[in-house]
Amino acid sequence: MIRKTNQIKTLEELPKSLPTVQITVPEKVYITLMEMRTRKYTLSVVEGDYVKIGQIIGERDGGYFTQPIFSTVSGTVGKVIKKFTYTGKKTECLEIINDFKEEYAERVLERTDEAISKLSKAEIIEIIKENGVKGLGGGGFPSYVKMDTDKPIDVIILNGVECEPYLTADYQAITKDAYQMFKGLEYVMQAMGTKRGIIGVKRTKHALLKALTEVKESDFKDLNCDIIPVSNYYPQGWEIELIKNTTGIKVKPGTLLSEYGIIEYNVTTAAAIYQAIKFNLPVLNRYFTVTGDAINNPCEMTVRVGTPIPHIVEAAGGYSIDGDKVMVLGGPMMGSNLMMDDAIVSITVSSLLLFKPQEYKEEPCVRCGSCVYSCPANLQPVQLMYAAKTKDGDAAKALNIQNCIECGLCSYVCTSKIHLTDFMRKAKKLVK
Ligand code: SF4
Ligand code: SF4
Repeated sequence: MIRKTNQIKTLEELPKSLPTVQITVPEKVYITLMEMRTRKYTLSVVEGDYVKIGQIIGERDGGYFTQPIFSTVSGTVGKVIKKFTYTGKKTECLEIINDFKEEYAERVLERTDEAISKLSKAEIIEIIKENGVKGLGGGGFPSYVKMDTDKPIDVIILNGVECEPYLTADYQAITKDAYQMFKGLEYVMQAMGTKRGIIGVKRTKHALLKALTEVKESDFKDLNCDIIPVSNYYPQGWEIELIKNTTGIKVKPGTLLSEYGIIEYNVTTAAAIYQAIKFNLPVLNRYFTVTGDAINNPCEMTVRVGTPIPHIVEAAGGYSIDGDKVMVLGGPMMGSNLMMDDAIVSITVSSLLLFKPQEYKEEPCVRCGSCVYSCPANLQPVQLMYAAKTKDGDAAKALNIQNCIECGLCSYVCTSKIHLTDFMRKAKKLVK
């Protein structure tokens, strides 16, 4: 199998600033029925039903939470079909045949600012829950759960640090939707009675610092929110790292942020919270990056959730090579390899990387320790690899595999080109 390890070196040769292309909404979308942390689903529509944009078509069950499933186009319900998703595996998806009428469900409405100012914490949480808002930075954790706490929250932190190399979706989002992000932050601060907000952005991203500062000065003068530049390294976007560098608070891995009086959201999640509160809208579109040396026109675009990958590839000028290519849905460090392009964009995905294949051979571990020195969660990836290989869940647990953030650094630095992150995922499953 062609692997993505160390392909990041190829990326260094790619253009760093990408053009934006307009992409049409596809003829069919495929809505994932199972997503992160969910175990089963029920559908409230059947094949042949007519659905509208933003209509609830079913529900996912995550054990301690439920999550509505939405149609992102208007049209006719098709079959349940398996497609590759961000997991790198096939997942059941509901096909919806687009009628291009762009009809919105009756539940979509606009709330006045006055009505919003009177919403209680419980009402704001309920609206966020009803609109299925989740961590759009990739975590996919239901956003309302973080707010559903009795702990006093001193600060809400928005994470604007897109730390994986060459991803630009959050960059696009901040430059275009900074107003929505501040509004989302304002709503969460209102709900939690929080007096302080922080937005963390890389200090090297001058355009983002400028965009946020301008919107803050023009529309949010009275909002107590600091825009804090942070250093440019990986994984600066890890919430524990960002919190340390914006507040000085050192969070122990595995503890709830609410214990420290903190709630943290990705900037795009804050914009989604704004859309939910203001318009009762779920996430319908994602800013999306398509890049790599195996695509003709690397570019940025706005993509409807459920869009098939071939539609995106076509909009980006098609593949630049025939035959095998490396396909990664997600970033170069944390994304998943795809076996084929029969895949779709789900809500937490914001990039597709396409590379010319580079054959390499995994060698046996030489016990160099590079993976151990590099792990930001202070784990021992090499020991965890042996635990995964021997299916020793007790050892994996004792080695704190639950603290692994799947950042991919251990794979990247491995002298023997071992894809350690795959073993970390296997070790996590053993513990679950
Ligand atoms: S993926 Fe590897 S480097 Fe990253 S946290 Fe997990 S074990 Fe550590
Ligand atoms: S970096 Fe690779 S070769 Fe070095 S100790 Fe870790 S697993 Fe072994």
